[in-house]
Amino acid sequence: MSNPSADPTPFLQTSYHLLRRAVSARDTSTPLPPTSALHAGRSSLPSALPEIGRGQEDTIHHILTDIVPALNNASLSPRFFGFVTGGVLPVSEAADNVVSALDQNVQVHLPHDTICTDVEDAALRLVVDLLGLGGAGEWPGRTFTTGATGSNVLGLTCGREAVVGARLEGKGTGKGITVAKVGLLDACLAAGVGRVQVLTSAGHSSLVKAASIVGIGHDGVRELPLSEEEPWRLDLDAVERELKRSEEGVASIISVSAGEVNTGRFATNALDMPKLRSLADKYGAWIHVDGAFGIFARVLPQDTDEFLTLRAQTAGLELADSITVDGHKILNVPYDNGIFLCRHPTINAQAFSNPNAAYLATDKAATIQSPLNIGLENSRRFRALPVYAALVSEGRTGIAQMVVRMAGLARRVAEFVRDSPDYDWLPDESASLESTFIIVLFRAKDRAVNEELVKRINASGRMYVSGTAWKGEKAVRLAVSNWRVDVERDFAEVKSVLESVVKS
Ligand SMILES: *Cc1c(COP(=O)(O)O)cnc(C)c1O
Repeated sequence: MSNPSADPTPFLQTSYHLLRRAVSARDTSTPLPPTSALHAGRSSLPSALPEIGRGQEDTIHHILTDIVPALNNASLSPRFFGFVTGGVLPVSEAADNVVSALDQNVQVHLPHDTICTDVEDAALRLVVDLLGLGGAGEWPGRTFTTGATGSNVLGLTCGREAVVGARLEGKGTGKGITVAKVGLLDACLAAGVGRVQVLTSAGHSSLVKAASIVGIGHDGVRELPLSEEEPWRLDLDAVERELKRSEEGVASIISVSAGEVNTGRFATNALDMPKLRSLADKYGAWIHVDGAFGIFARVLPQDTDEFLTLRAQTAGLELADSITVDGHKILNVPYDNGIFLCRHPTINAQAFSNPNAAYLATDKAATIQSPLNIGLENSRRFRALPVYAALVSEGRTGIAQMVVRMAGLARRVAEFVRDSPDYDWLPDESASLESTFIIVLFRAKDRAVNEELVKRINASGRMYVSGTAWKGEKAVRLAVSNWRVDVERDFAEVKSVLESVVKS
């Protein structure tokens, strides 16, 4: 049992020292733990709450010997290419320890009590600057979330508040009636809205989940692909046709996929976004951008032609009403970290303010809003510090170089599968390499090999990829998202694995 009168410092120092030693001693050349470690770890888990605890030293020993060896190296291995996991910059890991050690509660801005809300605000301003989204003042509804799913939930919540609200105003019934106040059903009834829909192309699965949470429903997410060849691109004519249905009582949120998870491609480009903006303004729609990983293409250097295509495809995203950004993917901070940006403070306040909580009131003269009135949570972790640390430590150039390395490796792999007699580069072999950001989609030409390609690659123990389906057939998805990537070293390894798995 922990003794409240004992100084915890020696225990914490020893534990941290042991933990660091265990992490450094890991063999990170293999992405996954040995099966034996998984079995041993599982059988060590207690089936019931112990009446008398094991004590803190013994518990740390148990964690280090039974649990740590059974965790994977998704974050530590530069060749874990599954999902889009990101790694953890050392400076952000260090900062994350401060977050736990001092356990600040970021909910109300209390300028005389703690600086944590100031740091959050500074971090958010730096993110807006990094992504070239204009002044931070243009995104007054800015906050940290648990990740891109959390941000998408906030985006759709704001969206439904705004699009139904616009209809209420149009009817002159706006006074006092909001979705937040009377609920979606009554607000829609008062507004003459029969349905709220989300228009997207190749929307992320979490967007569909978010639609369920906010009462729009899975079926309320409408896919409007430009073509079968480029399903990730949003068909603006179809969007306009759907927006015109506002006359029939349909209210719309547009969700721009920036980018699509299988191919890393983008829904819009520099020409599309201004058109989309004027359509949304004309018909009272809301534009949300799901930029979880893709929006980081905007940090790529402008002084080289290499990234012109990606820069053009991510231009104009700043015209959105709300934006989802992930911290724990490309930015390489620890889980759970996402960012939500919204242009309309009254919408945020309407949707997320805690009504009737005088004890949570902030100083009237405060220049920083209380996070609990902008996003989902009340009490929460000091999520900003690892992001703050990453941005202050690396600066614009350091972050850009990290993303350049990720794109550099992805392009080398894309070029290899494109030119290989054994592989097909998807979705389109004739595409320009410059359309590749950090994801490479491919399949083996030999059908039998393709059936078990993911298994073979991962069984090599030298790299890890995820499987997906593309146009009804199995495909491999390789996503580069770790700061540890070294283009030459890791390309040589990937090439060697991809050459050997088609032969066996
Ligand atoms: C990963 C991802 C999400 C979900 O993000 P989490 O951080 O896992 O919640 C949403 N949208 C896109 C485009 C993503 O890549």
